[in-house]
Amino acid sequence: MNYEVNEQGFYGDFGGAFIPEMLYHNVNELKENYLQIMESKDFQEEFKDLLKEYVGRPTPLYFAKRLSEKYNTNIFLKREDLNHTGAHKINNTIGQILLAKRMNKKRIIAETGAGQHGVATATVCALMNLECIVYMGEIDIKRQAPNVARMKMLGAEVRPATSGSKTLKDATNEAIRDWIANPVDTYYLIGSVVGPHPYPDMVARFQSIISKEMKSQLQEKTGRDYPDKIIACVGGGSNAAGAFYHYLDNEKVELIAVEADGLGIETDKTAATTQIGTEGIIHGSKTLLMQNSEGQIKEPHSISAGLDYPGVGPLHAHLFKSGRGTFIGSTDKEALTAAYQLTKLEGIIPALESAHALAALDKIEFKPTENVVINLSGRGDKDMETYIKMMDNE
Ligand SMILES: *Cc1c(COP(=O)(O)O)cnc(C)c1O
Repeated sequence: MNYEVNEQGFYGDFGGAFIPEMLYHNVNELKENYLQIMESKDFQEEFKDLLKEYVGRPTPLYFAKRLSEKYNTNIFLKREDLNHTGAHKINNTIGQILLAKRMNKKRIIAETGAGQHGVATATVCALMNLECIVYMGEIDIKRQAPNVARMKMLGAEVRPATSGSKTLKDATNEAIRDWIANPVDTYYLIGSVVGPHPYPDMVARFQSIISKEMKSQLQEKTGRDYPDKIIACVGGGSNAAGAFYHYLDNEKVELIAVEADGLGIETDKTAATTQIGTEGIIHGSKTLLMQNSEGQIKEPHSISAGLDYPGVGPLHAHLFKSGRGTFIGSTDKEALTAAYQLTKLEGIIPALESAHALAALDKIEFKPTENVVINLSGRGDKDMETYIKMMDNE
């Protein structure tokens, strides 16, 4: 089995570039240039330097002693929560902004649901002094006011998407419309391993720094450069792709992807794409998505805004279908409980997204000799309102 993208941008049956003709030039320009630029010495030097000095990498691989005792195994946390801006998303936005600069793009567009990718994009645009426009559903703008304020303070223009359900998929439509209208000077900065080829491959490569660091950190801490299990939450799938990347071909490593079950997959309020989704095309790629019998996208639900996405990247659809990945789900409630548990045992308040990965600990059997890595994708500051509400209800 092969887990690398092929020439046409496919992972097994999934991926590709299903785009309107008017986007062909833009996407093709990126496809023709991304690998060459990314592999150049000049790019690598600037990327590595920024990851170190600006983002704060390498992030620690922390042995969580009390959590390990509770589950009678060896649990390590890959601390992406300690990155500048509080999550893994910055790894990708730094990479893409350097690429955009080398392609002489002057104007950056992005779409965002919860605002996390919008903030990471606005951050690197400020850093590089580039114009930044972030499309966001009108409803999300109201729901995510602190992130909207951050983007504005960073100098981005936040444009509301007022059509359809006024959420992420509508913001995506607006961003694509903008790119079609501005094909020469504009770069579309996508925030996860989704979208038409080459985005999923490119974003996975930028996030692969996570598993690259894990290899040397595990070697140092355990005497072996691979763990028995890696657990990561999956919205679009970028933090999981980064955590799995250098282990995709190592069958000794079990890759565990955790989706958001929301209120439960038997209800309508869920974001567990591989469980209830079917094959189709979303955001320019063939993958699994939540859709009705007419092929219209179903609104997802998760308590965590970052997992509230109706699709999953094509790599993950392939890992699911091929059986290479183990896909499980955590409900809203299980994630909240897991977030409190990590806070009390280790003094770390995780993002609600990452808490879904932590909740999976209760659903997996571990041996005392095993080494388990959980990718702690982000910190919980942004979720304090939700956490406090839960405390008040107890
Ligand atoms: C955005 C986000 C996610 C989900 O995105 P992926 O592309 O699936 O990684 C997970 N965790 C945090 C903290 C996020 O901000």
